[in-house]
Amino acid sequence: MKEIKKDEFVSDWSIYENFEKWEFACPSSGKAYMQKRFMDKLQRARTIAGVSFHISSGYRDEAYNDSLPNSVPNSAHIYGLACDIWFDSMADRLKAFDAFREVGIKRIGISKGFMHVDVDDSKPEGIWGY
Ligand SMILES: [Zn+2]
Repeated sequence: MKEIKKDEFVSDWSIYENFEKWEFACPSSGKAYMQKRFMDKLQRARTIAGVSFHISSGYRDEAYNDSLPNSVPNSAHIYGLACDIWFDSMADRLKAFDAFREVGIKRIGISKGFMHVDVDDSKPEGIWGY
């Protein structure tokens, strides 16, 4: 596990106009240890896109992550640097995709049902499909 300083996590969720802490909570532990530098970019993308972001997975503690059937070990989710989002329509997905690129999110995974975005610099940049 990488070391993460306490002040790198979001402490004041009220600064995010379109997101609430519970949306990012780990279903197992209930903790939502999201990092500020990720949430700041996510909020900027949300504001630019102007469409609803439905968060299906945010923070995951390591045990929970590893218990998921298709999870990647050492996932950006366990560092609070990622989330999965579903959208109301393909048009919304495309607006969000453009906004993610605009704010400098360089890792985007696209599945039929959701998009994964993360800002984990220790992993290679890229856009991939599931
Ligand atoms: Zn993900």
